[in-house]
Amino acid sequence: MKLKVIGAVDIGGTKIAAGAVTEAGTIISRCERATAPEDGFGVAVQRIKAMLIDVATRAGAELEGIGIACPGPLDPFTGVIGDVGTLPGWQGGNLVTSLQADFGLRVAVENDADAAALAEVGEGTAQGSRCVIYITVSTGIGGGIILSGELYRGVDGAHPELGHQVIDASGPPCYCKARGCWESLASGPAMASWLRGQQPDVGEITAAEVCALAQQGDQLACRAVEREGYYLGLGLANLITLFCPDRIALGGGVMKSSHLFLDRALQVIREVCTQVPAEKTQITLASHGADAGLVGAAQAWLHRYR
Ligand SMILES: [Zn+2]
Repeated sequence: MKLKVIGAVDIGGTKIAAGAVTEAGTIISRCERATAPEDGFGVAVQRIKAMLIDVATRAGAELEGIGIACPGPLDPFTGVIGDVGTLPGWQGGNLVTSLQADFGLRVAVENDADAAALAEVGEGTAQGSRCVIYITVSTGIGGGIILSGELYRGVDGAHPELGHQVIDASGPPCYCKARGCWESLASGPAMASWLRGQQPDVGEITAAEVCALAQQGDQLACRAVEREGYYLGLGLANLITLFCPDRIALGGGVMKSSHLFLDRALQVIREVCTQVPAEKTQITLASHGADAGLVGAAQAWLHRYR
């Protein structure tokens, strides 16, 4: 009998990854292609179909379902994609109906941060925890909330935008129209743009480069990293005060440099969270690194249909 796997698809603004993932969370085969949103949604769907057939064939396995992690906004039940900043031209597209018809399988689509949160409780360090918040810090800040083992959804299935909580109303403006939201203060681009503001002649610089400079002892970069820890801590402190979670798992590219600023964030939490047992919230790095999307996509399918 052929091995059964979940066809997992992780959609990002620049690349799409597909994988054949077992129920235990092992990625047996995988492939990656450019997203190229400018080619249009229809072309992308054909590309994803070919990728799923490829990973299943190479795994020598049969797909039992398809799970997709995709940036929001999107409707997780109908599968309709909203106005996603990194996927221009995809608005109104529907991966669920497109793939369901062709493969004759059940398809689950989930916001990528929610999928990564499911990966933490399904296969990661948070396994068995009741209330878990997953946070990703990269070009933006996003998150997913698991309450009593279930993915938390708001009205009409809406995904809460944890990255747009206002931390400093006099802070920099964000595309969401608020000022000083968490993302505009503590995302990777926020760290880089603060440093550029202090020293305009530095030119184009990425958060990873700021962290590398801080590592070498550059004073301004060290201040940027200290600031990252401070604002990261304030946002996390709000989440701890509001939810008192068992665990917070931190993922995303910026967290690769967490050794530079996580202690500062934990210090802020200790100072600010005086009304809840914050010391009981375990704060860890997320378990799956760059595989969070694929493992999460498979978990999204299992969570929906098992
Ligand atoms: Zn915002």
